[in-house]
Amino acid sequence: MKKEEVFPQQGEPEEPASLEPPSSLAFQGLLVPPQNQTSKNTAFTISVRSVEFLSKHFPGSSLHDWNNWQWQVRNSFTSVEQLNSFLGLSADESAIRESGVHLPIRITPYYASLLDPDNPLQALRRTVIPVVQELNVSPGEAEDPLSETNHSPVPHIVHRYPDRVLFLVTNFCSAYCRYCTRTHMVSLQEKAHSSQAEWDIAIEYIRQHTEVRDVLLSGGDPLTLSDSRIEYLLSRLRAIPHVEILRIGTKVPVVLPQRITRDLVNMLKKYHPLFISIHFTHPDELTPEVSEACNRLADAGIPLGSQTVLLKGINDEPGIFKKLTHELLKVRVRPYYLYQCDPIPGSSHFRTPVETGLEIIRNLRGHTSGYAVPHYVIDAPGGGGKIPILPDYVVGREGNDLILRNYENKTFRFPDYI
Ligand SMILES: *Cc1c(COP(=O)(O)O)cnc(C)c1O
Repeated sequence: MKKEEVFPQQGEPEEPASLEPPSSLAFQGLLVPPQNQTSKNTAFTISVRSVEFLSKHFPGSSLHDWNNWQWQVRNSFTSVEQLNSFLGLSADESAIRESGVHLPIRITPYYASLLDPDNPLQALRRTVIPVVQELNVSPGEAEDPLSETNHSPVPHIVHRYPDRVLFLVTNFCSAYCRYCTRTHMVSLQEKAHSSQAEWDIAIEYIRQHTEVRDVLLSGGDPLTLSDSRIEYLLSRLRAIPHVEILRIGTKVPVVLPQRITRDLVNMLKKYHPLFISIHFTHPDELTPEVSEACNRLADAGIPLGSQTVLLKGINDEPGIFKKLTHELLKVRVRPYYLYQCDPIPGSSHFRTPVETGLEIIRNLRGHTSGYAVPHYVIDAPGGGGKIPILPDYVVGREGNDLILRNYENKTFRFPDYI
């Protein structure tokens, strides 16, 4: 597929050479006003740190360029050499270059502006910048740990559960997370997006399987497609009578919040009930831009959930995780899943013991809003699906009494007659 089809310009008017000063302050960010009369609804928040990053690293570009999501994709950082231009690479980071191994990299300028150029151990930086440890493959690690290829009746569909399917609509993502479950399929340069003919086969499978009442669009990232291609998918699926709910799994609101345009949300809300699960990792991702993106989606009536991968040294500290869940609720995102990190090749430096995840759940349940507590799950290797892992709140049984433990570690009896 040609590049223009992937990121259509949608008749964007020519950028003016200069821009008037931003007129108002929103949060700790500036609100960039619409560019001109013909492109109303293009206002978007921009953080002060992003303005600084833009003027330092893209001196020829304007705030309107920055807020154009296609500009963000076109100007993403995709090589170690480019990273070197704005970060001081650590020994572990530059060792990748010396190894000669090509690891796919993709970071939007927006997300790059959140990275600490001086601290290679900063949480956000570790999620997207490759390190030499990725080259160490440990026992139990596999290319396709969830065995999705074996549960795929037709290309792009994973049908593992009785009443719902995963529909992988594109291989392209606007950011390559270093621990991605689908590392083996995303970012293959030649064949990022799928063709309509390929989608039609998958849609036909769903039409013929009347037990499918829930379709989860993922990838890659569905929100990197143009509005018209997303609408093609949603409208075809919505036309199938037995498909009750549609869902999109995405990281776009976090790494490319400018993609959440008013045009996009106005289109999405025609296909309710539509849910969106957003991949969040760390409280530092909750910027004014991300807050605006989430609020736009929530205002369109889309229930938002988060999916977070438990990562060593990034979000495995109970206090940091609790902060993340609180920040998510403030932008109307309900923590949905906390995933044990999948054993993809070269992921041992990210993986924690299961006990660490249990400690995070124990630190939430009872101590804070129930809405802040996600389900902690392990996606079983080999395709067993998501298996919930819970701290032991049931201590045992004495006669007709169930012995329970509460969040304060006090025990209680509950009469449970058979
Ligand atoms: C995660 C997943 C789903 C959705 O699971 P829910 O628990 O309903 O969110 C569906 N299919 C596959 C293959 C999945 O991995």
